[in-house]
Amino acid sequence: MNHEQSARGSRSRLLKWLGLSGDEQAHEPVPPVDADAFRDPTTREIWLPAKRRMIGKVADFLIDHDLEVMPRTLGIAYDCITGGNPKLAQAILERTEAGLPVTLKWLEQMQREAEGESSAEMLAALMTRLEESLQEFSRTTNSARSATSEYGAALQQHVDDLEQVSKAGVVITELASLARAMMSRTREIEQNLNESEKRASTLQQSLDEARRVADEDHLTGLPNRRAFEVMFDKEIESAKEAGDALCVAFVDIDHFKRVNDTHGHASGDRVLKVVAETLSRISNARCHVARHGGEEFAVIFRAITPEKAWQRLDGAREEIAERRLVNRATDMPFGKVTFSGGIADVFAYPSKSEALRAADAALYTAKQSGRNLIKLAGRDPPPLQDAA
Ligand code: GH3
Ligand code: MG
Ligand code: MG
Repeated sequence: MNHEQSARGSRSRLLKWLGLSGDEQAHEPVPPVDADAFRDPTTREIWLPAKRRMIGKVADFLIDHDLEVMPRTLGIAYDCITGGNPKLAQAILERTEAGLPVTLKWLEQMQREAEGESSAEMLAALMTRLEESLQEFSRTTNSARSATSEYGAALQQHVDDLEQVSKAGVVITELASLARAMMSRTREIEQNLNESEKRASTLQQSLDEARRVADEDHLTGLPNRRAFEVMFDKEIESAKEAGDALCVAFVDIDHFKRVNDTHGHASGDRVLKVVAETLSRISNARCHVARHGGEEFAVIFRAITPEKAWQRLDGAREEIAERRLVNRATDMPFGKVTFSGGIADVFAYPSKSEALRAADAALYTAKQSGRNLIKLAGRDPPPLQDAA
């Protein structure tokens, strides 16, 4: 291998490392494999400083966050710098601003969560497509079956008529036996269709079960964030149509990190379940409680005023705040477990996302105001106890 070839090899390794390999033509203004292009000093002058700046940024990222130089961290650094993973970049920024270290363990957890989210999304999309196919199949078999049975009945009538003809010649007799054969084939088809329909109905049942599992949060048994989003969209549409009021709330356990830090993650999970149970007691056909993620919950209140929704949620807040939970494993008290919440009147905002933002902002205000509080967006001071 001559010098030029080896330089090209290391260049391509470097490009690969920077995520620019494979389709170099598409990424680079001038392909580096083109020797003529690299002899052109202008191209090199443009390309090399850009590359140095990129490598410098990757190095700064790793040094700033005190991360090892390894393929995984290099990939993450590259993604964050180039905007390839804006969600992760934002999470890193928030974590840094909160004064928390960006460790490899934390990065791996973030990646796992992102992968989990995207595979759940993929599964949901797949199930929707499968459900649509099943509905289509059921429509087709229904119309095929009614066509076959109509056809079978007509055929039967013709056979009967033929047999009535006393002077039936050979042709007619043959025709009758042909018709009989067709009739038995028609019955066979009908039977096959029935079998297929039975199988489709079993498949639909499995699909319903899969959908239920996919929509459920495993720890608390509540609907998960994805299910909440679907539910919220449906409620917005139908409440609009019916002229009903609609409120949305975000709930977040107060100082939950302390529970985990003091009692361990498994005990933290049990506290989460108790809060979920308390909240789920306010749910009914017109009030849906979901786990929005981590130690956060979302609630949809249909057909009640924001003040009434506030009362319902505040009742749950009071209930949990009055309990004295004890760690079963150690007999150590958990201390007072409380949560804060923010409620927004959905139709008071121009869009769904603005209503959600308002509920989130109200939750933030509740946290700022000392926690163990429910705030109503756009109302200050908070509603009185007797507001209804
Ligand atoms: P704040 O009152 O401001 O909400 O404080 P906080 O400590 O509750 O808030 P923060 O967001 O800092 O911490 C939330 C913690 O919840 C961090 C995370 O480890 C924990 N957590 C999230 N999901 C789970 C879970 O499924 N189980 C357990 N045990 N902990 C979880
Ligand atoms: Mg939180
Ligand atoms: Mg919290």
